[in-house]
Amino acid sequence: MSGTLHLKLQDLGEFKLIDRIRQQVVNGSGVHRGIGDDAAVVSLPDGHHLLTSTDLLIEDVHFRHDWTDCETLGHKAVAVNLSDIAAMGGTPRYLYLGLACPGETAVEDLNAFLTGALAEAEQYNVTLVGGDTCRSPGPWMISVTIEGSTPKHQAIGRDGAQPGDLIMVSGTLGDSALALHLLRDSKEPESALLARHHQPKARVELGRQLGEQSLAKAMIDISDGLASDLEHILQASQVDAIIEEDKLPLSEVFQQHTDTNPALRELALYGGEDYELLFSVAPENVAEITALSAEINLPITCIGVIQEGSGALSLQDKTGTARPILVRGYDHFCRS
Ligand code: ADP
Ligand code: MG
Repeated sequence: MSGTLHLKLQDLGEFKLIDRIRQQVVNGSGVHRGIGDDAAVVSLPDGHHLLTSTDLLIEDVHFRHDWTDCETLGHKAVAVNLSDIAAMGGTPRYLYLGLACPGETAVEDLNAFLTGALAEAEQYNVTLVGGDTCRSPGPWMISVTIEGSTPKHQAIGRDGAQPGDLIMVSGTLGDSALALHLLRDSKEPESALLARHHQPKARVELGRQLGEQSLAKAMIDISDGLASDLEHILQASQVDAIIEEDKLPLSEVFQQHTDTNPALRELALYGGEDYELLFSVAPENVAEITALSAEINLPITCIGVIQEGSGALSLQDKTGTARPILVRGYDHFCRS
């Protein structure tokens, strides 16, 4: 947009900005009132429960402008939210965007962010129906809220895992954390790793199908790291788990790095932002999981088993020896 090339938010003003956002949005079929009123009015399919999830993205906490462009950031802001709806076995539907940016922000940067966010939402027929826009005294602060739905009583919580269930995970682990590790080390990650970090794909279709077919008994998306997020399931379900080190699904690029530096392997256990789905399945449903994996063309790997207990997690190595593992995912307030 050449006319807006050097325009700043403080020149454009809040209302013109909101109007521009509104003009870019095409309301989906469940939207009765979208952007432009005091509240959005939307509907859900009959017999569904509403799912709602919110995430905050703060500049220099969650992202750095020198490591990502604004359009990619828009994609990621929405993708991580879609992932939360997927983790409940739901269908994402409506999006709300809270934006706080400094007045000096270039309008083209914000446009790029919106382009990314709207494109990501559109892939899943999700409509942006509202939000709020303010000036920030410093960092960009982005609040993304998503609403989705599931048929009543079919949402998949973290508390449904039972002894004997198999522990399954989609995709591969540790790629995003490895990209971040290399960036922090001022190295250039391979494009496959960078994509996993900057453009995570929410496993929306997998989550929805697991919900619809009642295949997952407990589920979470991996945002803080496999060990940390599995522990949430174990605590909520009051069970133990044992996972096998050899079975963790690793990408080829990840393995090339760990071949030269084996210490990096622990990123598969503790690294965050994979946005894969981690879920427990009754052993009799394994065939359905295999079929689903083939149908949606997404690898699903069995990495361990749920046992009786009260929240302990063990890791079994190649020799068959199991040891308790220390859970240390990312915690915003504890940096130890
Ligand atoms: P209010 O004064 O009631 O907060 P606003 O003027 O902030 O209303 O917002 C007007 C309309 O624009 C509302 O429908 C609101 O949801 C929408 N809106 C404001 N900011 C955004 C945004 N960043 N993204 C999407 N919709 C927005
Ligand atoms: Mg407002």
